[in-house]
Amino acid sequence: MKDIENLARRGLADMEPYLPSPPDGGIKLDANESPWNLPSSIRLKLIQWLDDAENLNRYPDTGNTALRGSIARHWEISPSNVTCGVGSDQLIDMICRVFLEPGDCVAAFRPTFGMYAATAELNHGRAVSVPVGYDTRAAQELLRAAGENGAKIIFLCSPNNPTGRAMSDDAIFHVLENAECVVVLDEAYADFKGTSFVGRIAEYPNAIVIRTFSKAYGLAGIRVGYAIASQAVIRLINKAKPPFNIPAISQLLAEWAMDEADEFASRAKSIAAARDRLMETLAAIDWLDAEPSDANFVLLTSRFDIAPLLASGGVRARDFGVRDGIRRVRVTVGTDEENKKVGDLLCAARPK
Ligand code: PMP
Repeated sequence: MKDIENLARRGLADMEPYLPSPPDGGIKLDANESPWNLPSSIRLKLIQWLDDAENLNRYPDTGNTALRGSIARHWEISPSNVTCGVGSDQLIDMICRVFLEPGDCVAAFRPTFGMYAATAELNHGRAVSVPVGYDTRAAQELLRAAGENGAKIIFLCSPNNPTGRAMSDDAIFHVLENAECVVVLDEAYADFKGTSFVGRIAEYPNAIVIRTFSKAYGLAGIRVGYAIASQAVIRLINKAKPPFNIPAISQLLAEWAMDEADEFASRAKSIAAARDRLMETLAAIDWLDAEPSDANFVLLTSRFDIAPLLASGGVRARDFGVRDGIRRVRVTVGTDEENKKVGDLLCAARPK
């Protein structure tokens, strides 16, 4: 038997498994989750369903009919323009599988959500990036890099993770109108801005909007995301959709949550207001900068090490380490109490 590492695909040696911090312990502000659990109306429905259920011995509906119906009603589109994944992570994977040949390129800003490049590479592709920007000029730079590398997919993340800012509408339209390839617009955090491009992409046959129940809908635990695109693109993406990918209980909870979209929109508004209050507190601290954010998190930069200061008070944030002497830490907006804790810890700190 050969060394098992030698049996694995070439190129995997440099890849690290995705191993975020364990879920328990401390004030968890490291994954941009919602601080609130499901509304009790939905929890009660689930209990009732489990009580009546005779369905868990059967595979779930692989076409996600009821869930896609509810998503389509919400966005006033046809269910044939929707497909669902195990989180938007799986949709990113399905899209890469469908559009990338070995060696093909995806283009994105940097920094942005790491799964675009990681998933492209796992699917034998490669990633190019240009520095993040939010205006038409930045869009032009991205288009230039995409064009030079013959990119098959451009990933736009708006609001962007980890910086928090949204691109201008003009910049997004500029990419949609001029791209020679598929454009994925990741709206994981768009609910916190209260806007979406779903209603505006119908005339772009190369556009795919991806959305998730993991953030504003507080359902990171059920792993459901969806993509909206032309019927032709949805048909293509579905070629990479694993059978029965979404568990029955996840489909149900996502469907019921979608039917209560107003409740989640108002929760997202509260989080955005809490974020703005936290920003005011942070603005008074002279040893760090907080990027303006349209999302449910704030990126802090400083010459000083922020993460251990937060950790000393039990707050877990996402530490991106240090580059060019600048440290970057992303803090999710939590409950008022949690945000106050963040503010108090940072205001009290006197780093040297
Ligand atoms: N897109 C962005 C921008 C994200 O930040 C995340 C999660 N961190 C995802 C997609 C994936 O979310 P999920 O798979 O939970 O839908």
